[in-house]
Amino acid sequence: MSHTLNIYEPLSIEAIRAEFPILQTKVLYGGHPLVYLDNAATTQKPTVVLEALDEYYKTINANVHRGVHYLSQRATDAFEEARRKVASFINARYDYEIIFTRGTTNGINTVSSTFGRAFLRPGDEVLISAMEHHSNIVPWQMACEYYGATLKVIPMNERGELDQAAFATLIRGRVKILALTYVSNSLGTVNPIRDMIRTAHTYGVPVLIDAAQAVQHMPVDVQDLDCDFLVFSSHKIYGPTGIGVLYGKEEWLNKLPPHEGGGEMIKTVTFGKTTYNDLPFKFEAGTPDMSGAIGLKAALDYVDSIGIDRIQLAEEALMSYALDALSTVPGIRFIGEAEHRSGVISFLLAEHHPFDVGELLDKQGIAVRTGHHCCQPVMDFLDIAGTVRASFSIYNTPSDVDSLVTALQKAGRILG
Ligand code: PLP
Repeated sequence: MSHTLNIYEPLSIEAIRAEFPILQTKVLYGGHPLVYLDNAATTQKPTVVLEALDEYYKTINANVHRGVHYLSQRATDAFEEARRKVASFINARYDYEIIFTRGTTNGINTVSSTFGRAFLRPGDEVLISAMEHHSNIVPWQMACEYYGATLKVIPMNERGELDQAAFATLIRGRVKILALTYVSNSLGTVNPIRDMIRTAHTYGVPVLIDAAQAVQHMPVDVQDLDCDFLVFSSHKIYGPTGIGVLYGKEEWLNKLPPHEGGGEMIKTVTFGKTTYNDLPFKFEAGTPDMSGAIGLKAALDYVDSIGIDRIQLAEEALMSYALDALSTVPGIRFIGEAEHRSGVISFLLAEHHPFDVGELLDKQGIAVRTGHHCCQPVMDFLDIAGTVRASFSIYNTPSDVDSLVTALQKAGRILG
C-alpha cells in the first residue's frame, strides 16, 4: 500500500482490507463473507496493531516509571512515546495534557467527579445535549445529584440538529461546564462544536468534548477547537480495548483534584499527608495499560500513514453512496437527517422492530447494531424503540453497502 499524503489520491480500500485479518471471516450459518458495519461500536484492528501488542509482550514487558532495569526503561520509553503520539495526533500543546484512561466513559467520569468536587455547588448547572451517549449523561447526573446542581439539556429538532437558539439562552444560566458530543453515535450528527465552544467561553464556561465518534473520521485539533477537555476510546480508532484518552488543558487539569488514589499519582506519602504528582501522573493511579498505550500508538501511526484527511474524504464518499443506495429500499425511514453527518446511518424498515431486521441481516452475514445505542433519551424524543444502525469505517466498500441493500430488501420481503 502506498502511504502518500496526497489527500486527493484515491485510497486502495482492497489493500487496506488486506491489513485487517478479521475481515476474512465467514459468518457461520451460511458461510456468508462478513460485512462489518458495526464500527461505531468498535473497529477492527490492523495487523500493525496486533503485531505491536505481540511485540510488546515478547520483548519489552515490564512495569513503567518505577524500575531502573533495562526492560522497565524500555517499557517506560515506549509508553511515554505513545503519549507523545497521542499529543501530536490531536495537536495538544503539551504531552502532559494527555491522560491515559480506560476509555471515553472513564475519561468523562474522571472529569465529572473531579470537576464536581472542585466546582459544583447547589444551584449550579451542568449543560449537556439531547443527543448524548449515556456515558455523557449519567456521570453528570450523578455529579449533579451529589453536589446539588441541576442538569440542563440543549434540545434538538426532529432532524437531529441541536437547537442553537436554545443553547444561546441556556448557556447564560448558572452553567459551570458544557459537555457535548462532537458526533452523535445514534444519529451521525456532526455538531458545530467550534462555534459552541467559542460561545461557552464568552460566558467563562469550560467545555468537554466527547470525541468517541470523531477522531477516527475527521481531523481533530484541540488547540484549534479550543476545547478544555476532550475524550476518546482507542478501540473505536483501530486500537486495542481497555485504553482511552483524556485531554485536558494544563490550566484545567491543574485546577482539578486527583480522581483515584494509589501508586504513581503521588510524590510523597505519610499516614498524615500525601502530596500529589505532577501532570499527567496525578491522574494515572496504579499500573497503567502499557500494552494498550503502545497498541494505540500503532493504531494512530496507522491512521497517519493513510492520512486522516484522506480517510475523511473516502468515508464521506461512501456515506453519500450509502444514503443514495439505501433510499431505494422500500419502506426505509432514516432516523437523523442533520445537514452535517459522519460515520453513522440510522434507519427503520417499515414498522418492523429493529431487532428483527438486525437478526435477518446477521443471517446474511451483515453486522449492524440495533436498539437505542446507549441513547435512550434520543429514542424517547423521537418516540421510537430504537433504530438499525450501519456505521462505517475506512475498510468498508460500496460493495458492503450493496450487500446491505440487498439483505434489507430480502429482510423486508420476509417480514412482510
Ligand atoms: N460517547 C460516544 C459518542 C460513544 O459512541 C461511545 C461508545 O459507543 C461512548 C461515549 C462510550 O465509549 P466507551 O464505551 O469506549 O467508553
